[in-house]
Amino acid sequence: STPVATFCALTKAATNGLLIKGGDYLEILAKIKVVAFDKTGTLTKGEFSVTDFQSVSQDISLDNLIYWVASIESKSSHPMAAALVDYGCSNSIEPKPENVTEYQNFPGEGISGEIDGKKIFVGNKKMATRARCEIVSELEKEGETIGYVFLEDIQIGTFSVADTCRTGVAEAIKQLKGLRIKTAMLTGDSYSAAMRVHDQLGKAIEFVHAGLLPEDKVRFIKELKEHGPTAMIGDGVNDGPALASADIGISMGISGSALATETSHITLMSNDIGKIPQAIRLARRTRRKII
Ligand code: ADP
Ligand code: MG
Repeated sequence: STPVATFCALTKAATNGLLIKGGDYLEILAKIKVVAFDKTGTLTKGEFSVTDFQSVSQDISLDNLIYWVASIESKSSHPMAAALVDYGCSNSIEPKPENVTEYQNFPGEGISGEIDGKKIFVGNKKMATRARCEIVSELEKEGETIGYVFLEDIQIGTFSVADTCRTGVAEAIKQLKGLRIKTAMLTGDSYSAAMRVHDQLGKAIEFVHAGLLPEDKVRFIKELKEHGPTAMIGDGVNDGPALASADIGISMGISGSALATETSHITLMSNDIGKIPQAIRLARRTRRKII
């Protein structure tokens, strides 16, 4: 490859908000056949708002429950956490992260911590399995993300949050199709939340896999690689292993976790998914100049 063409392309990409960590990745980018997207924070804005919050235990008031959840979530950087903290504030309940001990994060599942001498778990159904907790009450909200709160082995609360797609994502997927690239969604969220995004994007994504743990995302990346060189785009701690196992890992610059940025080969500084088909076109043009 000619160093000048590569250098020019890397500079051009950087001007467009794509930090490519070396000319080798530009060459791989030109050959990409599959692009896999994380959902939360990647296809969607990751700006959740709480749509419902209920106590399901007669012994625990809703205010108390919100206080525990908001306090523990103050320690999390997950996109859902900010919504739960805000929800506390807008109900005049001040979260107190300083009262939380033993905080733990379980990527793709949820979090736990001790507050007021109680060990609380917040997360999805996988979290219930991990903490060996029983779910006694379920919110019916088509396409929203449902959360559960547990104390010891029993559910004490439930809530729902909703998120919206980033602008330009549908167009980017269309452009990728035009470049004969297959697309996939790999999400830790529920199947129904995945389907809502899938519908919003006009069902243009070829492969949709939901309810995934970080290691499941890696497994699907390996499967997708059978169709050709595969890029993975994600923002979360839970995407780190998948980003590293893809031929090209792309992290979200503004909102992405430090781990995602470190394990990726390209950082999308602007968070604009539309830059991805653009970069692939640039990479293909650069390759032609070389040969
Ligand atoms: P995605 O793969 O779509 O980016 P994640 O793997 O980050 O989604 O999260 C998967 C699911 O894990 C979330 O939908 C949520 O149910 C649960 N979860 C993760 N982190 C938290 C948290 N801090 N609080 C509550 N639930 C969480
Ligand atoms: Mg994510």
